[in-house]
Amino acid sequence: MAEKFLDEDADRAFLRIVVWRSNGKMLDRIYALLPVEQGGTLLGWRLQYANATHDIELTPFGPRCDCPDWDWRTGSTGVACKHVQALGLVGII
Ligand SMILES: [Zn+2]
Repeated sequence: MAEKFLDEDADRAFLRIVVWRSNGKMLDRIYALLPVEQGGTLLGWRLQYANATHDIELTPFGPRCDCPDWDWRTGSTGVACKHVQALGLVGII
């Protein structure tokens, strides 16, 4: 489950991601959602939660995340990590 919402006063966007892990526990996190731009061109998105930062790069071959899950799971199964799935669910990518 994913939802995007805005803090209108602070002009900031957030992405809430809820997933159930294989051990049955729910993970419910709200990430700050920041565009990564260079010279007015959108290069990707940054998700920040506490002291963790994940960058999702928009490549000609599709989005790519720098999280560990992307490296060990997406490469072998083709299933995107929760960050890329969530951005897709809310229509950002
Ligand atoms: Zn990821």
